[in-house]
Amino acid sequence: MSESCNHNCAECKTACDDKEKILAAMKIPPREGSHIKHVIGVVSGKGGVGKSVVTSLLAIAINRRGYQTAILDADVTGPSIPQAFGLHDKAKSDANGILPESSKGGIKVMSLNLLLDNTTDAVIWRGPMIAGTVKQFWTEVNWGDVDYMFVDMPPGTGDVPLTVFQSLPLDGVVIVTSPQQLVAMIVEKAANMAKTMFVPILALVENMSYFICPNCGEKAKIFGESHLDQIAVKHQIKHIAKIPIDPAIAAACDKGRIEEIKGVWMDDIADMLEKI
Ligand code: ADP
Repeated sequence: MSESCNHNCAECKTACDDKEKILAAMKIPPREGSHIKHVIGVVSGKGGVGKSVVTSLLAIAINRRGYQTAILDADVTGPSIPQAFGLHDKAKSDANGILPESSKGGIKVMSLNLLLDNTTDAVIWRGPMIAGTVKQFWTEVNWGDVDYMFVDMPPGTGDVPLTVFQSLPLDGVVIVTSPQQLVAMIVEKAANMAKTMFVPILALVENMSYFICPNCGEKAKIFGESHLDQIAVKHQIKHIAKIPIDPAIAAACDKGRIEEIKGVWMDDIADMLEKI
C-alpha cells in the first residue's frame, strides 16, 4: 500500500497489491435473514437503451428455470421495474425489515417506487442520498433466500454504480447497449470500471438490435449494422444477446405484463449464469 493511500480504490491509478483486498473489505453484508447466492449488475452507458427491460427479461429467464430470483432497482431516479411487472402496492415491513414485493411469477422486487406515497413524485436528491438509498435496499430489505439477484443500475459511471460496485458482492455485470450508441466507447468505459473494481463482464446485450417486419418477415437493421460481435471478441466477452425492437415488449411494459413475453433471447446468458 502506498503512503498516500486514501482507500479510494475506485479513483486510484496506482498499481497496488492490496487493492483487491481493500475492495473486498468494503463489501457490506445484506440484512440478517437475506441469503443471496449470486448478484449480477446490469449497466448501460446512457438511459433509454432498455436496461430495465433487459434486467427484467434476464430475471424472468432465470426465474422460469426454477431459481429464486430478485430484482434490486437501483435506478432510483427512473425506476421502471415495478411498472413493467404490474406492481403498484406499497412495500410492507415487519419486525424483520422491509419486505420486497413479489411479481405474479414470484420474482422479488424492491424499488423506490414501492416506497413512495405517490409514484409521480420527483426524486430530487443528490448523489450520496441516492447511493445511500441503494445501500439500504441491500441492508434493510429482508430478501429471504435468493439464488440470483439482478441489480438494475442507473446509467453511466457515477456515484450510484460506484457504490454498487464497491458495496455489493457482484459476481459480474451485463452491459446493455443499443446499435446506434457509440458502443465501442461505452463498452470500453464499462470494461475499465469493471476492471478497476475487479468485477468481470459476463455478457453484452444489444437491445433494439433489429426489427422483424410482421408482413414480410424481413429482418430490418433500423439503427444500422451491429458491431457487437467484434467488440465482444476484443474484450473477450463470451456471451452476447441481441433483442429485437418488438412492440409487444413495449406494450407488455405499459400493461405491467412483461412476464408474459416469450422469447429465447436470454437463453445463452441464462445457461452461463447457471454455471457461475
Ligand atoms: P432504460 O432502463 O435503459 O432507461 P427501459 O428499459 O426503461 O430503458 O426502456 C425504455 C422504453 O423502451 C420502455 O418504455 C420500453 O417499453 C421500451 N423498450 C425497451 N426495449 C424495447 C424493445 N426491445 N422493443 C420495444 N420496446 C422496448
